[in-house]
Amino acid sequence: MSTRPSKIVCVGRSYADHAKELGNAVPDRPVLFIKPPSALRSLDAGITWNPAWGNCHYECELSLRIDRTLTQESDPAKVLEAIGAVTLGLDLTLRDLQDELKKKGQPWERAKAFDGSCMLADWVPVADVITDWKDVQYTLDINNERRQTGDTALLIFDLATLLVEISQVFTLDAGDVVMTGTPAGVAALQFGDRLNMTLKGKEKDYLWSTFVK
Ligand code: ZN
Repeated sequence: MSTRPSKIVCVGRSYADHAKELGNAVPDRPVLFIKPPSALRSLDAGITWNPAWGNCHYECELSLRIDRTLTQESDPAKVLEAIGAVTLGLDLTLRDLQDELKKKGQPWERAKAFDGSCMLADWVPVADVITDWKDVQYTLDINNERRQTGDTALLIFDLATLLVEISQVFTLDAGDVVMTGTPAGVAALQFGDRLNMTLKGKEKDYLWSTFVK
């Protein structure tokens, strides 16, 4: 499926250690926001942002492609069956600007939904990666140094719960993407950084790279 998604639904504060590192409370229900399809950019194009808007943080996230429409679905098995493929993505965040928006009580889109703020790697069929949705592992290295380690066992709300919750609010159309939130270790990107993301698969690991332009 190569068509553009109608939207990318993102989950904030889905790992407790990441909520804590930014001084946020651990949420009692998922924190949701949306990136428009215009936020998408390929990893090959490299990471850029307008420095006038302050720093830009990386957030490496397990990302799900929904292949079957989900509307107000309450069955955890059904929402998991709707996932057609998985990959890793970067939820790029203008953190200085987000902090300013949060303080003013304003929406986050300027900091989270700008052009190029969603970089997705290649889709991998679910069957090649997933044995157990509660045991999916991935990493992000920058300049050959480990920065983030993700493990869906550590999610505050497991993936089925997240998709059930999302589908109560937003219909997920076929092709839509869900970014499942970032583990601890986020920080500001620097010019020239080389990023390597690795998703643990059944037979092999999947490795993708990008860089800060
Ligand atoms: Zn995120």
